[in-house]
Amino acid sequence: MDYIPEPIEKLARELNKLPGMGIKTATRLAFHIVDMNSDGVNDLSSCILDAKKDIRICPLCHGYSVNTGECGICSDYSRDTKSLCVVQRPQDVFVLERSGFRGIYHVLHGVISPLDGIGPDDIKIPELIKKVKDLNVEEIIVALNPSVEGDATTLFIAKSVHDIKVRISRLARGVPAGASIDYVDDVTLSRALEERQEVSC
Ligand SMILES: [Zn+2]
Repeated sequence: MDYIPEPIEKLARELNKLPGMGIKTATRLAFHIVDMNSDGVNDLSSCILDAKKDIRICPLCHGYSVNTGECGICSDYSRDTKSLCVVQRPQDVFVLERSGFRGIYHVLHGVISPLDGIGPDDIKIPELIKKVKDLNVEEIIVALNPSVEGDATTLFIAKSVHDIKVRISRLARGVPAGASIDYVDDVTLSRALEERQEVSC
C-alpha cells in the first residue's frame, strides 16, 4: 500500500485480521476512522476495551456473562433446567435464543478434533457430563455446526451419557452441511430445533 501514511496502513492491517474483513474494506474503514471526530474515535476505542474487560465466562453454562457471576440465562429461574442445549461457541447461545428455546445451555468451547490434537478433556465435555447428572437433565439437544468434527463430538456425547436416563437429539438437517449456525435464518433454525432427531449410538 504505497503512499498510504504508515499509521493508517497499520490500522488497516489490524482491521484486516478481523474475520470476513478484506484488505480493501479494512483500508476504507481505516480512512473512515481517521476522518471521524475525536469523540467518535474515543467512544469506539473505549467500547472495544470495555467489551474485552467486562465480558467474562459464566461459571454455569460457560457462555458469556458480564463481569463475574452467572449470565442472564442461567440466573433466569423460569428456564427449564431439564432441557439442555449444547453449543460450540458462546455466540451460538444468542443464535439459539432466536429460535425460542427456553431451556438452558452448555458451551463446549470447541469440538473434538483429533487432527488438531483436541480431545474430549480439552473442551467442556467433563463439565457437561457432570451437569447432566447433577441437574437430572432429561433431554440434551446438541446444536453443533454440521461437520465431521461436530458429528464426532455429538456421537461422543451420546456414548458418554449412554448409561444415564437422558434423551439426546441433534438439530434436524435443515442446517446446511459446512455452514455455521449463525448464518442460518430464524425460521430454518426454529424448524431444525422442532424437528430435532434422536441420536443413537
Ligand atoms: Zn450461564
